[in-house]
Amino acid sequence: MTETFVQAVREAAGSAAVFENERMDRHTTFRIGGPADLFVRPEHTDQIVKILRICREAEVPYFVLGNGSNLLVSDAGYRGVILQLDQNYQSCRQENDMFSVKSGILLSKLAACAKEAAYSGLEFASGIPGTVGGAVTMNAGAYGGEMKQRLVSARILTEDLEVCDIRAERLDLRYRHSRIMEEDWIVLGAVFRLVPGDEEKIGEKIAEYREARQEKQPLEYPSAGSTFKRPEGYFAGKLIMDAGLAGFSIGDAEVSEKHCGFVINRGQATADQVVRLIETVRETVLQKFGVLLEPEVRYLGF
Ligand SMILES: Cc1cc2nc3c(=O)[nH]c(=O)nc-3n(C[C@H](O)[C@H](O)[C@H](O)COP(=O)(O)OP(=O)(O)OC[C@H]3O[C@@H](n4cnc5c(N)ncnc54)[C@H](O)[C@@H]3O)c2cc1C
Repeated sequence: MTETFVQAVREAAGSAAVFENERMDRHTTFRIGGPADLFVRPEHTDQIVKILRICREAEVPYFVLGNGSNLLVSDAGYRGVILQLDQNYQSCRQENDMFSVKSGILLSKLAACAKEAAYSGLEFASGIPGTVGGAVTMNAGAYGGEMKQRLVSARILTEDLEVCDIRAERLDLRYRHSRIMEEDWIVLGAVFRLVPGDEEKIGEKIAEYREARQEKQPLEYPSAGSTFKRPEGYFAGKLIMDAGLAGFSIGDAEVSEKHCGFVINRGQATADQVVRLIETVRETVLQKFGVLLEPEVRYLGF
């Protein structure tokens, strides 16, 4: 990455923060990851578009980051530009039952806004520690709910760097999958349709889900949530437990004993240790039960 390139990105970023050699363990819930060459926190869409244009012209790779809660970044970090769309790129506007947000807003914040306005439908998402952009891209879900059920449309920055609103039906939202990840689109915003409800009851539901998470998930350790997708007809955590891998560790990377579907970082885990642990778990489960586990966690910089 040349000085001229860095300077061009800084100019395009305008008022937005730009950091060189930014450690990614600061930006992932796993608390793992080496430095990214350039790390930008855009505040406006035109900054995003300008930066992407510069990256493409210079053939420098880029990656869009939300809250880093479903991500394993390599120990070597990322050679390219990371654009983080989180608190720096957020808003929430309500008109009757429609909630329009910019993609950097956290699901917890959106769920809280909906609760305050006495609208129900996103309680399930309140404990998922991601942004709306990451959640729509992953079609995040929990407790029988998923983004697909409430999403009306997403504002997308396409591969031609055009902004367009695409209806949810056209996003091919399935279990932890969307057309957005296939096409490398960027989610700039989203519109959700919720239903009028009772603020107190909504609050109770949110609290109930929070308690269920605290009871079942190893929230006291850094992780990226469920490491594996749910294989059809099985539960990843149960297969891993039945394979005798509860508490199995490589360095500080460990299969949580509280919930075997989570790989946790007990302090100083490296990405390399996590990858080796994941591969050992996959091989063991495949050998014992003939089921191939697919990682839900996304890899960057490998
Ligand atoms: C303790 C814990 C519990 C969790 N529980 C759940 C759960 O119950 N259900 C569930 O589904 N997930 C869960 N997760 C995983 C994670 O929170 C979700 O996948 C979340 O939606 C990821 O959002 P993010 O903003 O953190 O995305 P990131 O991790 O930053 O990115 C994930 C992917 O989305 C892409 N992306 C992010 N923002 C955008 C954007 N604006 N435009 C285009 N692409 C984008 C990234 O490029 C990357 O490929 C959990 C994680 C943790 C740590």
